[in-house]
Amino acid sequence: MEVVILGAGYAGLRALKALQKADDLHITLIDKNDYHYEATDLHEVAAGTQTKESISYLIEDVVESHKTTFIKGEVTKIDAEKQTVLLADGKEINYNYLIVALGFESESFGIAGVEEFALPMVNVETAAAVHQHILAMMQKYQETKDENYLKIVVCGAGFTGIELLGALVEGRKEYAQIAGVKPEDIQIYCVEAVDHLLPMFSEKLAAYGIDHLKSWGVQLLTGKPIKEIKADTVVYQDDAETKALKELTAKTIIWTTGVSGSHVIGASGFEQRRGRVTVTDHLTAPDHENIYVIGDVSAVMDATSKRPYPTTAQISLKMGHYAAKHLLATLKGQTIAPFTFKSLGSVASIGNSHAFGVVGAAEVKGYPASFIKKAILDRSLLETGGIKEMLAKGRFDLYH
Ligand code: NAD
Repeated sequence: MEVVILGAGYAGLRALKALQKADDLHITLIDKNDYHYEATDLHEVAAGTQTKESISYLIEDVVESHKTTFIKGEVTKIDAEKQTVLLADGKEINYNYLIVALGFESESFGIAGVEEFALPMVNVETAAAVHQHILAMMQKYQETKDENYLKIVVCGAGFTGIELLGALVEGRKEYAQIAGVKPEDIQIYCVEAVDHLLPMFSEKLAAYGIDHLKSWGVQLLTGKPIKEIKADTVVYQDDAETKALKELTAKTIIWTTGVSGSHVIGASGFEQRRGRVTVTDHLTAPDHENIYVIGDVSAVMDATSKRPYPTTAQISLKMGHYAAKHLLATLKGQTIAPFTFKSLGSVASIGNSHAFGVVGAAEVKGYPASFIKKAILDRSLLETGGIKEMLAKGRFDLYH
């Protein structure tokens, strides 16, 4: 029995871990990189407050070679009829069961200039490139004294944008040193389409995060949808009634207005929206009982809100575990209860020692929230990797 897992993110590795416990099947894991990275920490790599090595570990460390073959390769298409996966180098891999966990990509919403003039932050390479770009711009400031080199604009104030802003505030000391200015001379902006930020939190809790960012000098422009990105310029609608546009110039423009699932989903002909397949209650693609679609390429309906659950590391881990359990039960001719999800809560960090969010029914903020976020992250490292990875990272930092 051949099970193929596409993607070594949270969902794919969680499924792998559970499947490797079973006998009588061979697993092939395919990823374009030979390492897994903690996607929840990308903003820190972009700001330079963590290195890319500190959020990555080798896939071979979690692969049991007598059960699993790892292939480093880029998936281009899934052929559900032929039961094959096509790779960019022309290889074709056959499967009996497939677990698709290909993760997310940057979403431009068709806004002109985003691909050319804004920096994405969707994997370790692009996140590290953001940091390198910021440092290069600070160097340029030294040479030119043009203030635009000191300006950083974050586009979109979702969870990603907010966490990135907090990390950039922390990174200012490093940038300022290179530019030869004071940290407060580094100008950090955020341009956001809606007025009401962080709608999943109570007003008071959202204000905790927003007020902190403002008190650290972050300039938040809300109710200003971005209409175009030009070279070194963000063009946004300044007035909803007159539709008047305004321009904000900066040498660093970072794009965090949301994500879509992998383009491979659309290329493979699955019924999808923004790269996400609305799955059955046991996480398979409609009409394909042998294809599980999990993580950020999957849309699972929340029966209460009648909308898909937001894509998070937390739900990805749960889906990975469920898909493996369901597959193993199916092979034994058994059935298990449908997938259900109850969020443990969500916590956003702003910088290394402040965070805010909801855990269970309780609102948490400040130092304890920051601690809880680290504990949740370390748990995900423990669930996908193992105690070795967690300790090697030194992530359980009791001082914050
Ligand atoms: P998002 O879709 O949650 O937020 C994007 C933001 O960009 C929104 O506020 C939106 O109004 C804004 N936006 C969209 N188009 C715009 C435009 N043209 N101009 C200006 N603003 C625009 O995306 P995200 O923040 O990348 O998060 C993706 C998913 O990952 C979410 O489900 C989120 O909850 C999850 N996430 C969770 C955590 C955490 O739990 N700590 C951290 C990061 C992301």
